Amino acid sequence: HLSPRLDCVLHFVPRVECLADIGSDHAHLPCRAVQIGRVDSAIAGEVRPGPLYQSTVNVAKQGLQDRIDVRLGDGLDVLREQGEASAISIAGMGGELIADILERGKKKIGKKTVLILQPNSREPRVRRWLDHNGWIISDEAIVNEGHHVYEVIRACQGYKPKSLSELELMMGPVLSSKQERLFIKKWKNRERRLSSILKALRNTKQSDEVLKKIEESQKELHLIH
Ligand code: SAM
Repeated sequence: HLSPRLDCVLHFVPRVECLADIGSDHAHLPCRAVQIGRVDSAIAGEVRPGPLYQSTVNVAKQGLQDRIDVRLGDGLDVLREQGEASAISIAGMGGELIADILERGKKKIGKKTVLILQPNSREPRVRRWLDHNGWIISDEAIVNEGHHVYEVIRACQGYKPKSLSELELMMGPVLSSKQERLFIKKWKNRERRLSSILKALRNTKQSDEVLKKIEESQKELHLIH
């Protein structure tokens, strides 16, 4: 079975012919997606030979070698032509790396491809890339695993009347409107942390500029509840 985080990613994979999972590590996600019939076939892309070998072993163990193609390569380089995969998942990496993989590989992404992205950090960086490159965020989820809260973003290409605001880039346009318990908890915690930093800084000789910046972020967070 998948971890709650990967299960949440799987939940966002649409019913399509071919899924490419980039940075697949042990290919857990594509194996499950094929097993439950969500996709007919999958490509598991991985840049390190060690995990790639483990993927090959896992895929064979489950008898899925006819349906899952394990490929060694950097990011979307593993795709042979534009639109080869109708869904692309990139999970468990930093937001900066995800945005970089998308930017370097954008020619390989088809017009109708759905992206499912799960950054471990710097989510706004991923949303900004999507927003600047003609993508619409169609759904978002927030999930708890261990001590960590993860966000999952699904996006497709299409007409977008306006760009996302800074606040939407930070918190997620769909998550902001859903206002789930975990979302409120995450941002309340962050606000609390900022308050205590602010308090500590007031007692030191910090420049007014630094204090002002933190106060502004705090105000922004206040907007949500
Ligand atoms: N996607 C899996 C998950 O969410 O559980 C595995 C996450 S694992 C922490 C990140 C994987 O991405 C590693 O196996 C790493 O080797 C791979 N990776 C990092 N940079 C990559 C790149 N440019 N192209 C393909 N894979 C990459």
